Amino acid sequence: MSKLWLARWAIAATSVLREAAGGVVALAFPDDCRVCGRPLEEPLRIPLCVACLASFQRIREPLCGVCGRPLVAGAHFSAIGPRCRLCRPGESPGTYSFDCARSYAVYNEALLRTIALLKHQAMRPLAGWFGERLAEMVRSDPRIPAPTVVVPVPLHPDRLRERGFNQAELLARAVARRLDLPLKTRALERRKPRPPQRRLSRHERWQAARGAYAAVTGTQFDNHTVLLVDDVFTTGATLDACTRALRAAGAASVAALTVARVVDAGSGPVSAAQGPGDFGRR
Ligand SMILES: [Zn+2]
Ligand SMILES: [Zn+2]
Repeated sequence: MSKLWLARWAIAATSVLREAAGGVVALAFPDDCRVCGRPLEEPLRIPLCVACLASFQRIREPLCGVCGRPLVAGAHFSAIGPRCRLCRPGESPGTYSFDCARSYAVYNEALLRTIALLKHQAMRPLAGWFGERLAEMVRSDPRIPAPTVVVPVPLHPDRLRERGFNQAELLARAVARRLDLPLKTRALERRKPRPPQRRLSRHERWQAARGAYAAVTGTQFDNHTVLLVDDVFTTGATLDACTRALRAAGAASVAALTVARVVDAGSGPVSAAQGPGDFGRR
């Protein structure tokens, strides 16, 4: 077999594979769905099967206009639109300092496993796929203030060294590219490390996040409308703490965007009238 023939064969085989796989990216994921393990029947740009993608529970209207929490359809809404108990006017001080928060989907098992791929394997095609969805949410929701800059929630330097990358930054980069906005990755910093225990109660989360973030010395966000990006909205404590740091550095408003949102197990969506009893900062 001549070298020339081998080279020609390799080129032909590669192009056939590319066609079959629907793009170069899919060649990296030729086998099984990385979430459920079933064989991938049709090649996608990301290593997930159609069933797993379909199992993502999108967060849809009605939702709290401020924090994005899903609400029960038909609940009584105030004149300013739907609000959960924590975000109703008159709650003083307001629970959250951001102007609004939105999430792509409920943090269910499939999304948890997908985010784990992003978090532990820096899977950039996945960040791009989520980035597209998040950018579309910004474009289509008139209640989200038009952003002028995108900022990822930072990791503590020790955690960043350990992991080698920040998954929120991968997402923020993908969103910024799609919205054609500047990205500021070294503008916020986490100064206080997260407590070592794996699971934190709501109260501990708020305690751990309080004062944990600050704008890097010399960074100003004067008059900017910041789009703050993270992977998961758990209690909102992290997004709240980052917002306070951004406002201290001059930001005019802050909209927070996450891929996943923890919705209390068992309770499902809450009505605007009820609200979750133990939710938020205490
Ligand atoms: Zn699957
Ligand atoms: Zn709310």
